[in-house]
Amino acid sequence: MESLKNRTLLKVIVLGDSGVGKTSLMNQYVYKKFNRQYKATIGADFVTKELHIEDKAVTLQIWDTAGQERFHSLGAAFYRGADCCVLVYDVNNLKSFETLNTWHMEFLKQANPVEPEKFPFVLIGNKTDVDGGNTRVVSDKRAVEWCGTKGNIPYYETSAKENINVDEAFLGVAHKALSNEHKQDYIYSRDLSASVTDILEEPSRPGCSC
Ligand code: GDP
Ligand code: MG
Repeated sequence: MESLKNRTLLKVIVLGDSGVGKTSLMNQYVYKKFNRQYKATIGADFVTKELHIEDKAVTLQIWDTAGQERFHSLGAAFYRGADCCVLVYDVNNLKSFETLNTWHMEFLKQANPVEPEKFPFVLIGNKTDVDGGNTRVVSDKRAVEWCGTKGNIPYYETSAKENINVDEAFLGVAHKALSNEHKQDYIYSRDLSASVTDILEEPSRPGCSC
């Protein structure tokens, strides 16, 4: 009971063009598998990973799209209550990098966070393994510059295929999600409402006419 109470649930959503490796990254991180059959085929919308950050028990609830990103038509439930948005592009695919602006804007429009300029984002440049880096078209410098224009978003480069930097990237995501100020407000107000309920449910004292 105590551990449940102290566990922080963080909702993370993963956005980016179709084919950049979103599902592969999640599968590598959660199942340590590349090419594993994705759970969406049995109807799940998210996968979870439990971890500890500075003595805090954290559950990362990572939401993936099941191909709807092609149509930019992700439902409101996908965005609702997100604590961190992970944007993914493929370092070998210029278009997937250029579309990041659209995904960034789309997230802010749909999720409508209280303070958009403070909302935690993380950028991942995936598929660094392809052809030993020879087909790469977006430099890390260019990616970091883009992150700078969006309020210094943390940037990670990964290979979901070779399992390079995937754990580090999601650990960064967890840290960023924990920093979501409005999450803290939410937890706090939930605690408050719990104590209000306790007070309301207190049995009336016998013999009291008030
Ligand atoms: P999503 O549409 O963004 O979810 O992308 P997927 O995870 O379905 O990956 C699209 C394709 O890219 C699949 O064929 C993956 O096997 C491949 N892929 C994903 N990540 C990597 C990577 O890091 N390196 C390489 N070489 N291929 C990858
Ligand atoms: Mg996918």
